[in-house]
Amino acid sequence: MDLLKKRILEDGKCFEGGILKVDSFINHQMDPILMKSVGVEFVRRFASTNINKIMTIEASGIAPAIMTGYLLELPVVFAKKKSPKTIENILTTRVRSFTKDREYDVIISQDYLTPEDNVLFIDDFLANGNAALGVIDLIKQAGANLVGMGFIIEKSFQHGREVLEKQGVRVESLAIIDDLSNCTIKIR
Ligand code: 5GP
Repeated sequence: MDLLKKRILEDGKCFEGGILKVDSFINHQMDPILMKSVGVEFVRRFASTNINKIMTIEASGIAPAIMTGYLLELPVVFAKKKSPKTIENILTTRVRSFTKDREYDVIISQDYLTPEDNVLFIDDFLANGNAALGVIDLIKQAGANLVGMGFIIEKSFQHGREVLEKQGVRVESLAIIDDLSNCTIKIR
């Protein structure tokens, strides 16, 4: 997606440890026009599938997921990182956070993820694939079916794609970063 690649090169900043900061248009301030184009591209790539639900994880996956769900007129559910007492029929999994270097619980209610669901998972970044593996676990626990996973940005040097493809998951990324060393963004 050329528009996205151009924006990453113009406004993305790299940090120590292979972290790309895109706070001015994805992770803090958000560009809704770019986000709409992201949604359009996900719709195009998964057009031939039979998805009936979009799933993501709070917080940064919500914007691209809601755009995709809006375009497809499908419900969007986000896995939560904290468990409010009011949520019923909870499924839980544990995820290692790449950016925060700690583990946390991710939960979803079985009311919104069921054996009838064919799920497209959308998120902002694919790094080592830990968040995605947690989501796969929740989808399995719910008895739902995972159709594919779409990421705005994939960092290929962290091998999340290999981990997911080994499990038979279809992975689509809109921009692939091959290297961030010496604080230079190398985009495929
Ligand atoms: P993974 O679980 O694939 O290792 O990491 C994915 C999650 O970590 C994403 O949901 C994203 O929130 C965060 N993440 C991973 N790498 C980066 C990065 O380079 N920049 C930012 N902003 N977030 C990242």
